[in-house]
Amino acid sequence: MSGAPSERTTVRRKAERAHYDRQTVYQILDSGLICHIGFVVDGRPAMIPTTYGRHADRLYVHGSAANGTLETLASGTEACVTVSLIDGLVLGRSPMRHSMNYRSVVIFGRFERLDAREAKLRAIRAILGNVVPGRLATLREPTDSEMARTSFMSLSLAECSAKVRAGGPKADPDDDLGVWAGVIPVRQVAGTPTPADQAAAGLDLPDHISGLLG
Ligand SMILES: Cc1cc2nc3c(=O)[nH]c(=O)nc-3n(C[C@H](O)[C@H](O)[C@H](O)COP(=O)(O)OP(=O)(O)OC[C@H]3O[C@@H](n4cnc5c(N)ncnc54)[C@H](O)[C@@H]3O)c2cc1C
Repeated sequence: MSGAPSERTTVRRKAERAHYDRQTVYQILDSGLICHIGFVVDGRPAMIPTTYGRHADRLYVHGSAANGTLETLASGTEACVTVSLIDGLVLGRSPMRHSMNYRSVVIFGRFERLDAREAKLRAIRAILGNVVPGRLATLREPTDSEMARTSFMSLSLAECSAKVRAGGPKADPDDDLGVWAGVIPVRQVAGTPTPADQAAAGLDLPDHISGLLG
């Protein structure tokens, strides 16, 4: 990521909301849980949601070796990946003055298949580390068979943009100031964990899980 946008990652609409610096892009990607991967297959558009993780300047995704999306991406087709976080519902005093506070990233590029075991482990560290930080250290290593049954792909962040909206609704001269307007904050919250059926008795909740709650 150079910090300078390419022709297609230059935000034109509301350009003042654009960010192209690493820190903003990293912060948004590291706060999200799913991305949407857009691509064209057999001449038709497709858009698939999936889990991801980031390490340095690369995004990682994985799935079954039979995963059709990953197979298409492995052929070198171009992809467009988005991550969107909703920070608030913006309620104006007229229908057109309603909006959302958001942080989002758009990435263009071609995914690369990861074959080496170390590269696959890096992907696992990035993905699991994004979803439940600290969990990987408590788990056994994946077996060779598990690795063989899973496809891992990575995408450079070289061509990407971020866009951030923050703040309240705009007011218009015709607005009725007696109508409530403002922002309702929205955030993603982890609920109370349910232990698995076959859990050993008396297991305490690990710190990396209790740290996610609330
Ligand atoms: C949760 C959410 C809700 C939204 N709701 C609306 C809505 O209701 N109506 C609406 O018009 N817009 C909405 N937006 C903004 C929307 O994503 C577009 O930015 C906007 O519609 C302008 O589109 P455009 O094609 O004119 O963008 P352009 O500025 O022409 O896009 C050019 C390039 O800028 C970059 N870019 C554009 N948008 C984004 C983005 N959101 N994040 C990162 N990079 C971007 C991409 O690289 C893109 O190729 C919403 C965004 C989010 C995240």
